[in-house]
Amino acid sequence: MAEDVMFGFGAMRLDLLDKNDEGSVDNKNYQEMIDYYMKQGFNYFDTSYAYHMGSSEEGLKEFLVKKYPRDSFTIVDKMPTWLLQSEEDNEKYSNEMLERLGVDYFDIFLIHNINEAFLAIAENCKTFEYIQKMKEEGTAKKIGISYHDRADLLEKILEKYGDILDVVQLQLNYLDWESQLTESRKCYEVCEKYDMDVVVMEPIKGGTLFNLPDNIKDEFKAFNPEMSMVEWALRFAATPKNVKVVLSGMNNLEQMKENCEIFKPFEPLNDDEIEFVLSMAEKIKELIAIPCSYCGYCLKECPEGIPIPDYFELYNSEKMYSLPSLYAIYGTTAAVKAPASACTYCESCVEICTQKLEIPDLLEDVADLFE
Ligand code: SF4
Ligand code: SF4
Repeated sequence: MAEDVMFGFGAMRLDLLDKNDEGSVDNKNYQEMIDYYMKQGFNYFDTSYAYHMGSSEEGLKEFLVKKYPRDSFTIVDKMPTWLLQSEEDNEKYSNEMLERLGVDYFDIFLIHNINEAFLAIAENCKTFEYIQKMKEEGTAKKIGISYHDRADLLEKILEKYGDILDVVQLQLNYLDWESQLTESRKCYEVCEKYDMDVVVMEPIKGGTLFNLPDNIKDEFKAFNPEMSMVEWALRFAATPKNVKVVLSGMNNLEQMKENCEIFKPFEPLNDDEIEFVLSMAEKIKELIAIPCSYCGYCLKECPEGIPIPDYFELYNSEKMYSLPSLYAIYGTTAAVKAPASACTYCESCVEICTQKLEIPDLLEDVADLFE
């Protein structure tokens, strides 16, 4: 069982002042969350070049780096793999990130969103060699990858680069643990084999494991009336022994407070609890039509401006709860942004999708339902 698991602040789903502008982070709220989190004795901040179009990093500079001693917090940042076009780009982006954060070193530096396609980009641009150099020169204390693909590819990567890497950031939650698509358990076991520290992302699967139908929540309550849905998800993610950090992408102080309490102190799930939660995962899987994690990476790729995760969330909600209001929300969103049927099947979004979804086909399902 893991011990002393840190609860990490994932600065990727921050509250926005304008819902249509990813960069318009509500900085007052961001600052409050950072102060509260630090005051509770936590100190692990996870950001990336891509989060909130740079506003996530810039907020950390203003509200963390300028206010607290450098050795009192850990900052993790990530190379935007999909933007790399040459070896020189490694330096260009890492320097830009240092500048945005106002620091002269990263505590942990990751190559972002490694999957089969992005591995090829990182290898062509010699990014593994570059981050190794960063570590040797002290610009990064530890290095690693954030990973979104199958376990056999991860095994190949760690066979090749395991000696230089310290950390793998993995999608790990009870719903994906036995998933054939995400292969959370198998990926975790590969990390254990290569003795990698594991940082967990998506422990609540983009909120999916919180927003469950009442009959499912009732079964959880019957098993343990004291434990919330969030606590089930976070404690499951924090239980495997190589897990060192569990990230949560919170957007308000209430969520922050609830999550902090769960890790003060952290208590791993016991065998009965694990068995129960995995049996519930099987029931929940039958209810989720589109297993989107709402990470939003596809949004940057779509030339038509289709709000893909919003539509998948509406579709899933309709399948779970059949609410008439969802049709009105779809109509308004489609009028302001673009309808699902605007998809041209260009497939730009498919490679970057962290859940390997056939987005154009699924948008056709969305259009069939709502249009
Ligand atoms: S395939 Fe459709 S949804 Fe994906 S990027 Fe192209 S237009 Fe956008
Ligand atoms: S469709 Fe894929 S990339 Fe887009 S939000 Fe969902 S999981 Fe993320």
